[in-house]
Amino acid sequence: MITIKSEREIELLRIAGNVVWKTHQYIKPFVKEGITTNEINEKAEAFIRSQGCTPSFKGYEGFPAALCISINDEVVHGFPSDRKLKDGDIVTLDIGACWKGYHGDSAWTYKVGKISPEDERLMKETEEALFIGLNEVKPGNRIGDIGHAIGEYADAHHLGVVKELCGHGVGTDVHEDPDVPNYGDAHTGPKLREGMVIAVEPMLTLGSPDIYEEDNGWTIVTEDHSHSAHYEHTVVVTKDGYEILTGELKK
Ligand code: MG
Ligand code: MG
Repeated sequence: MITIKSEREIELLRIAGNVVWKTHQYIKPFVKEGITTNEINEKAEAFIRSQGCTPSFKGYEGFPAALCISINDEVVHGFPSDRKLKDGDIVTLDIGACWKGYHGDSAWTYKVGKISPEDERLMKETEEALFIGLNEVKPGNRIGDIGHAIGEYADAHHLGVVKELCGHGVGTDVHEDPDVPNYGDAHTGPKLREGMVIAVEPMLTLGSPDIYEEDNGWTIVTEDHSHSAHYEHTVVVTKDGYEILTGELKK
């Protein structure tokens, strides 16, 4: 069921989303060669809690950590571990925070030291794809318009679209209806209405978009081990467009 959020609910989602954004800003300088993904996870969790929030993903369907940290060919749901970041890695931090029962969800891919020109392109164009998709977020448009725009952009730039994973509604559950795919046909799917809150999150690859799940039952990796990038914002549909909830507070 797709819900329309009240002004009061949007205010709580704005606070949760802002804490997610602040956590990204806080953790970014630590994303360097030699740090373990466990250390990043611990620092981010402590920061989220210092803001009076709880990490949305910890314990979600049994996920063991606060953050999903996915490196290179890992698309999503990487486990924090003793693995150290290396020069040339690209790493996605997917961060969720909950404030008074309402969630914010935002993923961002970061580079470690000097990365390849191909990875630079992948990151730049996947971030661009997020905003191409968000550009379609306005009342009267449909969910399919978002996926169509992202899919067309990815095709034009010869990037793979991971089809098994998609964006989603956000509210008192971190994953609500509707699904927000990164491909599909324009003018299809549920109509966007003012007060709907969705996470738009293209996950694009340099090679094949085919994926498999690792033995841990969570981590999704590209079949051909090509690198993947992932950019995500939680947004609310406004009267004439959208407002990013997982960003800096404007007031
Ligand atoms: Mg996320
Ligand atoms: Mg999400």
